[in-house]
Amino acid sequence: MVHLCQACDEPATRRCSGCKIPAAWYCSEKCQRHRWPLHIFECNPTKPINTAYHLARAVYQDRFPEDPQTSLDYGFKRAFTVENQSKLLGLYIGLILYIKVEPKTIHRWRLKGTMAEEIKSAFEKLPQSNRGSYYPWFLQNQWVINLELTPPTNPVDETLLRAWQYAGGLPTSTREEMDAVKASWPKHKQECFFFCTLLLSSWHPSPEQAAWLNFSFCTCRDEYSETPLAQLYQRLIALSSFDKIYMAYKSSELIALFDCKGLKHDQEQIHHLDDVLARSPYMHKSVWDLKQHVVLEDGCMIPSIAVNYVKLHEAAIGGRLFEYVGGFVKLKKKLKHLMKNPYLLPQATSSSGPAIMLHCEA
Ligand SMILES: [Zn+2]
Ligand SMILES: [Zn+2]
Repeated sequence: MVHLCQACDEPATRRCSGCKIPAAWYCSEKCQRHRWPLHIFECNPTKPINTAYHLARAVYQDRFPEDPQTSLDYGFKRAFTVENQSKLLGLYIGLILYIKVEPKTIHRWRLKGTMAEEIKSAFEKLPQSNRGSYYPWFLQNQWVINLELTPPTNPVDETLLRAWQYAGGLPTSTREEMDAVKASWPKHKQECFFFCTLLLSSWHPSPEQAAWLNFSFCTCRDEYSETPLAQLYQRLIALSSFDKIYMAYKSSELIALFDCKGLKHDQEQIHHLDDVLARSPYMHKSVWDLKQHVVLEDGCMIPSIAVNYVKLHEAAIGGRLFEYVGGFVKLKKKLKHLMKNPYLLPQATSSSGPAIMLHCEA
């Protein structure tokens, strides 16, 4: 049997000696080392996995670390705002992917308490023009990592203030005032505010956030196709007030709002947008939960399997899942009974019919 390299898909000859069956295979030591920060989570490591590996995994996936201890150890908790957190992530991406510092080294720096100094000396070795924009940010904000420095007392950054003013708040509000007002808002208004905060800073939700489902980013084929959807929302924000967007969101009428702001054509270019927005934030088809689960497990979608998600959902509720999926990938026969749907719905094949719905809170 020919094994393929886990990192580059070339024929592989080296087998990970730490793995139980099935083992991971590699073409070279270079690929094995490159893949290790991700593989350590699937392998059989003898020691507990330290937070530097959680950090490296987050970097490979271009996401904030999900593990709370990692978030604490590497400054994400201290950074506090999405803007600072995204810059901090950018700094670590530079350190791990471009300067190629290994997780075990970063772990050692942290234990020695020399993180900030070591990061500086790593970046200072590069020519100034190659240091990127996150390093200058870091020089101004070393308190994020250096625990001896005090964080700014009033962490109202531009991101938050931008969203706050967009939602009708005063430019002079303090952080405490903002938090108190926001805490009094209904849940869906808070969700909408968080979403606008991201978009106003040219960010968009990531799969672990409820907004990823509720604002239909789950329907995008991959991370790259999430950008046009984010841009569409940015145009909507430029054309509508926060209250309009919030009212439309909580009454499942965002599609109508796009249309009435002259964005009908653009909105229709995003496949299945209406499938989610027509019932969000109250219900959505279970196929979107399935997608979220797969994305969070695997980090990225395999683009070669380009299924139509709504058709996949219809196949599931119509009892044709094995046949439908079998049309894309080779399936073992024993999967057939697992993919059988014991709860067939009578009108399950109609695309507008009452599909299996899940409450978002569920
Ligand atoms: Zn390889
Ligand atoms: Zn292994």
